[in-house]
Amino acid sequence: MRLSTLFTKTLKEAPKDELSVNARLLMQAGFIDKLTAGVYTFLPLGLRVLKKIENIIREEMNKVGGQEILMPALTPKSIWETTGRWAAFDALFRLAGTDNKEYALGATHEEVVVPLAQKYVFSYKDLPLYIYQIQDKFRNEKRAKSGILRGREFIMKDLYSFHTDEADLDEYYKAMQKVYFKIFERCGLLDKTYLTFASGGSFSKYSHEFQTITPAGEDEIYICESCQIAVNKEIVGDLENKCPNCGNKNLKADKAIEVGNIFKLITKFSDPFGFSYVDEGGNKKPVIMGCFGLGLSRVLGTVAEVRHDDRGLVWPKEIAPFTVHLVTINSPDIEANNKIKLASEKIYRELQTGGIEVLFDDREGETSTGEKFADADLIGCPLRLVVSERTLEQDSVEVKNREEENKELVKISRVTHNI
Ligand code: ATP
Ligand code: MG
Repeated sequence: MRLSTLFTKTLKEAPKDELSVNARLLMQAGFIDKLTAGVYTFLPLGLRVLKKIENIIREEMNKVGGQEILMPALTPKSIWETTGRWAAFDALFRLAGTDNKEYALGATHEEVVVPLAQKYVFSYKDLPLYIYQIQDKFRNEKRAKSGILRGREFIMKDLYSFHTDEADLDEYYKAMQKVYFKIFERCGLLDKTYLTFASGGSFSKYSHEFQTITPAGEDEIYICESCQIAVNKEIVGDLENKCPNCGNKNLKADKAIEVGNIFKLITKFSDPFGFSYVDEGGNKKPVIMGCFGLGLSRVLGTVAEVRHDDRGLVWPKEIAPFTVHLVTINSPDIEANNKIKLASEKIYRELQTGGIEVLFDDREGETSTGEKFADADLIGCPLRLVVSERTLEQDSVEVKNREEENKELVKISRVTHNI
């Protein structure tokens, strides 16, 4: 992609009315735009990151047998009445249709997925079953001041699992914990993310959250450093401030943001819908359920919170909008400038042919070298390549890692191999 044709521009300064670090950085760098509190547009650069996170999640969900679907966001009141959540779910966006019926915008999808699965699951032979989607969710959040960490419209992966018994659910639940850590590893959040014991609601003792340490976090967790797990402050009373694994009472308090949450629903939603199956002995039994949520837009915002410096974003390689930010330094000398342009166009083509994603700062005229470098740091691609009169004297480009200060010259003929 060429910066000269990208319709969005970086901002000289972060938007003043924006308080959260993630939104300030992502808006300044041209990844997102704010429509109103808690509602954002993903711009070309931001959408590339989002799609990469999405594909990582999709890959990992498919590996554990997930079947992807897309459920509607517009849902009738009747299904929410079946579970009692029309009245009980505070943050539900409720709206009226022209047919005298009322609707809700999907805040979560148990009420849609259970009647759906019920149409196909009759016997133990139809189980287990794992269904997921990646979709916009709507919640009328009271406080929407944390940028994309807390949207009123946001993107979630929600997987629902259906089992014959709790032992089968337990096994899948454990496997999913590993899968979640794999996802956080690939998104560059592993070192700061803890499996956290949280309240389980009425059907199971605990649920598990995946909490990433950041001052921007709205939760407080207590970490057991020897077990590398944590307890959410909201349930600490129950656990008497000790590690649920080893009993250690010396826990470290920190602020964190919940990037994922997994629940054993057991029969919480199968009961109200009367969702049952016939077991091997011909007996009717309730279907046992689990649910596994993960916020994609929140993950993106969390990466911005935990991976930046005073110059801008610092993307981990696997979810960076581009691997390489290629910068051309123009020369006032026409002949020299033509050489620079030719060489950088060639490098741009070769990198792309080599399967390397490149953001090419081919801007001329008004844009100064300082501005180009500042933009490269702000946007935060892992590698910056510079082509100038000086580098071409040695048939080279200058290569710099976003996270390091040192630069090295690499021969043009070797560039594609070295990246
Ligand atoms: P929180 O406690 O932060 O309000 P939650 O417990 O209500 O979140 P869940 O219902 O467990 O959230 O949703 C699953 C996942 O969806 C969360 O772990 C989080 O990653 C994401 N998520 C939830 N609410 C939002 C939101 N308003 N904006 C962005 N992501 C969200
Ligand atoms: Mg939660």
